[in-house]
Amino acid sequence: MIVMKFGGSSVANAERIRHVAGIVKSQIKRKPVLVLSAMGDTTDLLLETAEEAVSRGTFSLSEIKELHLKTMEELGLSESQTEIKELLEKLERLLSGISLIREISARARDYLVSFGERMSVRIAAAYFNSIRVRARAWDAWDLGFISNANYGFAELLNESWTKIPQKILPLMEKNELPVVTGFIAQEPGGSITTLGRGGSDLTASTIAAACKAEEAQFWKDTDGILTADPRIVKNPKPVKMMTYAAAAELAYFGAQMLHPRAMQPCMKTKTPVVVKNSYNPDAEGTHILASLRRKQPPILAISCKRNITLVDIVSTRMLGQYGFLAEVFSLFAKYNLSVDMVATSEVSISLTLDAAGDLNILKKDLSRIASVEIKTGKAIITIVGDVSRSSEILARAFQICRLMGVKVQMISHGASKLNISFIINDGEAAEVIRALHEEFFEGGNP
Ligand code: ASP
Ligand code: MG
Repeated sequence: MIVMKFGGSSVANAERIRHVAGIVKSQIKRKPVLVLSAMGDTTDLLLETAEEAVSRGTFSLSEIKELHLKTMEELGLSESQTEIKELLEKLERLLSGISLIREISARARDYLVSFGERMSVRIAAAYFNSIRVRARAWDAWDLGFISNANYGFAELLNESWTKIPQKILPLMEKNELPVVTGFIAQEPGGSITTLGRGGSDLTASTIAAACKAEEAQFWKDTDGILTADPRIVKNPKPVKMMTYAAAAELAYFGAQMLHPRAMQPCMKTKTPVVVKNSYNPDAEGTHILASLRRKQPPILAISCKRNITLVDIVSTRMLGQYGFLAEVFSLFAKYNLSVDMVATSEVSISLTLDAAGDLNILKKDLSRIASVEIKTGKAIITIVGDVSRSSEILARAFQICRLMGVKVQMISHGASKLNISFIINDGEAAEVIRALHEEFFEGGNP
């Protein structure tokens, strides 16, 4: 068996769904399990609609309704062939409720966004049946996806690992294509949860690992994982092969290609992963494996995380002391702030946060033990590659920054041995990435 996951843009409309069906059919002998995201931007639209309901007390579902009903019509599906009408009605009732009470809980928000995936799998499964590929839509919880109740970022419970193969493996005998909702699960009490934005990747990777699939395929809209963000760099190239660890590193640092946790399940079981382009299925894509035999170039890819806050903490009390770092970090924990990068010297600590809301209370608290400066509008540039060649990579990267007059404000050379990250001003990020890409990928000097 294999797992094939298609993201929102791959199932954005009737034409895309037909195209996906073609790709799936071409591999039907390998016994695929299909995992789908919500159609197009449905998740964003749902969240925006809810916001409107809360802030203004009114909402319009017309865009979402039209997208799904029009797609069904174009695919030649009648309303009785799917449960879309019922789902849209329920969704409408939910939004009416939200617009009355003018607030939405984290639990209600997860319930709300779940409609996206629940509708997309039903439309796709009905379409497969209409072209004589026997298929059935599944909500992930009916296939063993049980999570904790951490709404918005739920984590699957260990029992999922036994339940998922128990449910899915028997389906593989049935000669019926399972079409499974990505992104969503249920907590033990029965409420719907979500696994974090982009979570369909994690659903697919979990099924592949738990069922010991032959391969997990992630179908996206680029020719694999690219050397840089195509919105920034003109001609990024697909990376042919990388390790799970490198792929995870890239996801953490903003490459937006894969869900940050998506590699974990397949990494555990060494299930081969391939990232492919649904718009260009013949392209080789990126193969992700446990280890690589071929010699790798010094750097695989460059990614960037924008809108970062840098916190500089200086205290002479640190000199020869113990417990100071613990004290500092306990304050970040107290305010639920997740720290990304850290650099320390004898008397100072620099660290980064994703752009957070109001940091004034944190600053006040920290000021009791040290002097603190908080600087917003920064970017983390991450170079993922062969860090055994870090001196060379650093020399070349910093030479570029020097020539561009860009000040590097903090450096971290990850313990993972895979990434070198540094902080610059956000406004300079795009240009620096373009220059780095040219240096490492476009010259004749890899
Ligand atoms: N539909 C969800 C999102 O847009 C999950 C996914 O696409 O993986 O975040
Ligand atoms: Mg999406």
